[in-house]
This record gives sequence, structure tokens and C-alpha cells, in this order.
Amino acid sequence: MTFFDEAVETASRDRLRALQEERLRTLFEGLWERNRFYTDKLRAVGFEPRDFGGLDDLARLPFTTKAELVAAQAEGGRLSTNCTFPEAAYTRFHQTSGTTGEPLRVYDTPESWAWWGRCWGFVLAGAGLGPDDRILLPFSFGPFIGFWAAVGGAARVGAMMIPGGGQTSLQRLALIERLGATAMCCTPTYALRLAEVAREEGIDPATLPIRITVHAGEPGASVPATKTRIEKAWGARAYDHAGASEVGAFSFECAPQPGGIHVIESEFVVEVVEPGGDRPVAPGERGELVVTNLGRLGFPVIRYRTGDLVELDEEPCGCGRSFRRLRGGVIGRADDMVVVRGVNVYPAAVEELVRRHDGIDEFRVTVERRHEMGHLRIEIECADGLAGDAVAAAVVRTFTRELALTPEVVAVPRGTLPRFELKARRFFVEGSP
Ligand SMILES: [Zn+2]
Repeated sequence: MTFFDEAVETASRDRLRALQEERLRTLFEGLWERNRFYTDKLRAVGFEPRDFGGLDDLARLPFTTKAELVAAQAEGGRLSTNCTFPEAAYTRFHQTSGTTGEPLRVYDTPESWAWWGRCWGFVLAGAGLGPDDRILLPFSFGPFIGFWAAVGGAARVGAMMIPGGGQTSLQRLALIERLGATAMCCTPTYALRLAEVAREEGIDPATLPIRITVHAGEPGASVPATKTRIEKAWGARAYDHAGASEVGAFSFECAPQPGGIHVIESEFVVEVVEPGGDRPVAPGERGELVVTNLGRLGFPVIRYRTGDLVELDEEPCGCGRSFRRLRGGVIGRADDMVVVRGVNVYPAAVEELVRRHDGIDEFRVTVERRHEMGHLRIEIECADGLAGDAVAAAVVRTFTRELALTPEVVAVPRGTLPRFELKARRFFVEGSP
């Protein structure tokens, strides 16, 4: 069992609540009259920091949306009106990957960047990593925050960090072998891609020293078939983690209880509300994750609507932590569901069904709406030596059985579909309904 901060991780729920309230109070006082975005927003509902009586008061405050943060950025000149301090206080700039709309810029002070590292300390220690580990970060160290904060996390748990930016996949494999890398932090997609490159070179990735993989950027490590595939390929245990540039690294998976992620409740307050609505859902029910961060005074978010669909699990975990879990990780996005022939289809569910078939190295899904009812087309790229048509027929049978939906599945020649080093883009919706 590995804790990063055992006293906090195993604190009673009452103690955690008191800690959250104390930090919220500090946050409100710290940003008041300095952070223009939140001072205006809170004042508009008649709230002042001295009114804050406890956690229950949070529900009276307004939500924050990504669109509001984008508007705050447009108004703030080079910074954002959500920056609490003058420009000279900031030492780090990052921006979102911009997969949906304009990239959102975020700024951190030394204190808030250290807090990011602390959050990643929970993630890496939770996966069992420590001073004896050598962690490869096969990540292009660009403006996307991605695994930058994992660097700080590695230092906090005392592990060796191996930067893998600016390297080809082959060079990264050589680094793993030469330095005896025991762990790797990357997207689920890239873990599978690197394994594919290894096999093309005649190397079985399971014979390499990687024993733990930690994933972020995509929900794949909580998609059971994808997780199993990564674990089989590398002979390793794969851990999920979810976070976001505008929020922080808010969750991690523990060793004893896979199939969900703990919320780092000492650093974040989470709520689950009706998707698109404002009422909380009952415990265990699916809803949209709303996050308040407690350690990023320079660029805070209060009741931020993540758009992530989750189910909050209040049962005690086998690891002994009192942080609550999100069952099955981030299940999907509130806005990524499409309806095909009356069936609700989520990209993560499609991924699960495709990944159950061994030998599919890459795939691409297109929902075509030119037909009245919608049409699901899946292209698959199989490993060498496999009969693509037979695999395609098997995929059709799986979808028919599990979703009562018959897709068109086409096996395409190797090298047809794009490969990804960071977040994959495999799901496309064409035409209007
Ligand atoms: Zn646990």
C-alpha cells in the first residue's frame, strides 16, 4: 500500500470536510478584490467571503463554464481576468489542446505549480511508484499541460524522471531498455502505439522492464478492454488518472481496487449534478462532474462544469483511503453521445467493444447522418497475418449482441489509419441529423 500523504488520505470524512472548508475560506479571502473574474461573479449573487459558513454554502454559488473562462481570457489582455495576481507573479504558461474550440490559456505561480506537482504525487504514489522507479515521459513537452506536472510528481515521490520528448518511438524503446525504465506516463493510445512499434521491430514489449503505466488525456485506461490490452502488451499494471488544464490533476487510481479513480479531496471539492442542469444527482447516479480546486489561487475555478460524466461511489475502498471514487473513471462527455437508430452511442462504449477483439491495432468510427436513422461505420486495421474480414465479421457480431446495433465494419490495409502520440481522434460525426 502506498500513500503520498497518509494522514490526509485516511482522514475521517468529517476531518476532510473541515479541511475543505478551511481551504475554501482561504481561497475566497485570497481572491477577493484581486481576481476580477470571481469577485464580479460572486458579488453578482450577493456573496462576500465573510458570508461563507461551510461547504453547504457552495451550492448557492454560480457554476463556472469553459465559455466564461474563454471570455475572461479575451478580456484580460495577455493574461485573463481570472488571474488573481499581477503578471510578474506568474512563472508558467500552458494552454489546452484546443480539440474543441479556441485553446484556453492557463497561468501558474510557483505556489500553484508546486500544488500541481503535489497532486501528481498522489497519482504516482497511488500507482505504487517511489524512489526505486525510473519513469519515462514519452511526451512532446509543448504548451499542452499534459504530463508536464508529472515531472513535479516524480520528484515528489523520489523517482527518476526520464524525459522522452523529441524522440522517435524507436529511440524511446531503446531508452526504456538501456535505462531500465520501470514506468511510463502517456495516453492509453500511445501505450498501445509504442507496443505496436516494438512488435514491428521484433521486440515483445512485455519483456521490457516497464511494470507500471499511468495514463491521462483520454478515458481509455478506465475502458476495461483497453486497460486489459495495455496490461497484456506491456506485462504491466495500467492506472488511470483524470485531470484538466483549467482544473488540475484531480484523481488517481489505487492499487487494491481497479475500475475507478479516487478524487483528491484534500485538494478539490467535487459535486455531481444533472448534465446541463443544476440539481445534484443522488449518490451513485450518473451526472456531470463539477470541480472546485483548492490550491490554485493564481488561477482558480469554483464550481467548474467539466462536461465529464461520472458516478460518485461513496463505498469505502479496499485501500483504506477516505477519498471517494468515481466508478469506472470518467465515463464519457455530456456532449459526445450520438443517437444511431435509436441507440445512445458513446465513444468510450464503442472503444470497449472494438478493443475486445485482439489484433485490431487501430480503428476509426464515423457516424454518418445522411441516412435518416444514422449509420455507424467502423474501419479497423489488423495486425499482420490476421484475416481482416473475419475480424470485421466478429466485430459486427459483438455490436449486434451488445448494442442491438449493426455497424458496417471494414478492414483496411495496414498503415491506412492515422497514429497518435497524444490524444487520439477516432470518432467522427458527419452531416446534420
Ligand atoms: Zn482505493
